[in-house]
Amino acid sequence: LYVEQPLGPGQPVPLTQDQAHYLFGVMRLARGAAVSLFNGRDGEWRAEVSEAGKRGGTLLCTHQTAPLRLPPDLWLLFAPIKKARTDFIVEKAAEMGAARILPVQTRFTNSERIRQDRLQAHAVEAAEQCGGTFVPEVADLASLERLLADWPAERRIMWCDESLVGARAGLLEAAGGLEARGFEEPPKRPSPGPWAILIGPEGGFSEEEQARLRRMEQVVPVSLGPRILRADTAAVAALTLWQSVLGD
Ligand code: SAM
Repeated sequence: LYVEQPLGPGQPVPLTQDQAHYLFGVMRLARGAAVSLFNGRDGEWRAEVSEAGKRGGTLLCTHQTAPLRLPPDLWLLFAPIKKARTDFIVEKAAEMGAARILPVQTRFTNSERIRQDRLQAHAVEAAEQCGGTFVPEVADLASLERLLADWPAERRIMWCDESLVGARAGLLEAAGGLEARGFEEPPKRPSPGPWAILIGPEGGFSEEEQARLRRMEQVVPVSLGPRILRADTAAVAALTLWQSVLGD
């Protein structure tokens, strides 16, 4: 169960009405039952039900069952699309170990607004689902142009674009993995360092955006193959490729 409060030995955790309904109404837990808790900061904790009511209750933390597992320093930047597909991208990015999820407004992005709270709730659910102890932050919608203007020098960008000629090996080259293709030696695993994956909207990137990205030293152009993928598919494919080459 995800909670907001700090977790530690003997720490009481008061429950909201929804949490109490879930634990005592749906799961039918009674006093003394064990519950697994995480808050995205303190790892996973075992707690016991100390008070159970219809509208609330309290858990008492006993001991830590797993330390906090931080994901690699990987951000996902994507142009939000239709609601259900945006929800899907956030859910999958949280499952695939993105540390931050940043919806970006590009020239051809159709959405003007996002429901940040709703997307953050999806990230929490995905972390709960895959037994993670970390919840990625979902940032508010920001302009790609402004983000690139202040882009940190050390954070590389895996720029995914179906129109990139010769970018098939981009990520492997950047990771120094090409020599390992013969599999005679174990693949080199350079320190992943901070990275971001960038996925465009349904209409792709504008010429100005492409030119801007080409000028940036941090940018590694990457093709995900010859097929034009839907943005949500491309996000999952890109996360998989990154994890396979650079994840540990
Ligand atoms: N510009 C395209 C068009 O209108 O035909 C389609 C854009 S595609 C639906 C959405 C995004 O997914 C792209 O901006 C890109 O980031 C990513 N993408 C899709 N297929 C890709 C591929 N084969 N290689 C790299 N990126 C891809």
